[in-house]
Amino acid sequence: MTTITLAKSLEIGRIITTAEADRERELGHIKSQHKFECIDDNCDAQITCANLLKEKFKRKKEPYYIYVGDHSAACKEKDKIEKIEREQQERQESKPRRYISDKFAFLNLDKPSTKKTETTTRGSSTLTDPTTNGSGTTNGQNQTGVRPSKKALSSWVKLFNDDADISVIYNDEEIHIRDLFVNMDEVTNIEELEEDPRIYYGTAWVNPKKNGIQFTFNNKVQLDELIQKPSLMLYSNKIQNEAENGRFSEKILKKLAEMKTKNNRPRPITVYIFSQLPPQLSKNGNFINFYAKELTYIYYEK
Ligand SMILES: [Zn+2]
Repeated sequence: MTTITLAKSLEIGRIITTAEADRERELGHIKSQHKFECIDDNCDAQITCANLLKEKFKRKKEPYYIYVGDHSAACKEKDKIEKIEREQQERQESKPRRYISDKFAFLNLDKPSTKKTETTTRGSSTLTDPTTNGSGTTNGQNQTGVRPSKKALSSWVKLFNDDADISVIYNDEEIHIRDLFVNMDEVTNIEELEEDPRIYYGTAWVNPKKNGIQFTFNNKVQLDELIQKPSLMLYSNKIQNEAENGRFSEKILKKLAEMKTKNNRPRPITVYIFSQLPPQLSKNGNFINFYAKELTYIYYEK
């Protein structure tokens, strides 16, 4: 599922397609898949060119661009891309499916404020779903063509802990829940991970910073030359509103950071991040970062 076709390469200083990026890599002009940016002049949102450094015969997919950082407020690309993403999502969710619906479900990443789109695209249990009209069955006897439900990240975590037999449908791929979760407490080298959508989870520390809250995973990993604990930054502007953000509000997260063990040591939490890619190198190459577009992409357990 491609949403962006162009990115600004910081290594060659031009706006290029992924095919051009691949060519420039062959010529030795592009050496990193992390040094790309949003094409808007007023935006420096980081872009990764996934699969770019993978040897051609090992690629399951051609290189593609994906945002791994937030757009600036002035960025004009942002709205365009969000519109494309919404359309793709709706197309995908309204596709007729032959699945037995309780063995498959979508991942619900919608923000609470976008509930409107959710009601028009979900369907397995609503009476307005045209595929169930007339059949009169709601007990799962006649589920052919019924659309799978949408489950929030917290539900997937529960299903994983219950060892449920279910697959997520994401970008038209089916991923069984057993393959969906990646335990960051056991990962040593990021390059060994597939560049695929996964739920990355592990022991993490809550660190209040000047400009927000940082989750830092407990386990160090290697990426390129760097060996470091990967982290996820939640900037204040995303987590300020307590009523809207609930357990992800800055206030609650700060309280979480103060939790102590019986021996009066800081207490870690377990963080879950749904991400299309494993953690990425920052543009300056100094950090290994996870990126969560919205708070619905993350979940934690105390
Ligand atoms: Zn942008």
